[in-house]
Amino acid sequence: MLELRPNCECCDADLAPVDQAYICSFECTFCPDCKNKLAGICPNCSGELVRRPIRPASKLAANPPSAVRVCKLDCKTKTAS
Ligand SMILES: [Zn+2]
Ligand SMILES: [Zn+2]
Repeated sequence: MLELRPNCECCDADLAPVDQAYICSFECTFCPDCKNKLAGICPNCSGELVRRPIRPASKLAANPPSAVRVCKLDCKTKTAS
């Protein structure tokens, strides 16, 4: 099951389960802005970033999203423009 992480790994922006977010196959998680700056490629594993599917609200109570924030600030240096 997807973790549905609560934040962008790069800029630490909050990402609600209903927000548009992008993940790689390891679930490195990014907001749309950072995904664009990264040209759709995960900076951690060089994998493809694809849109995270929205978990239906009716399923969230029994299958809650992760509360563990993952943030790699060195990513910011790669997206600075
Ligand atoms: Zn971001
Ligand atoms: Zn990755």
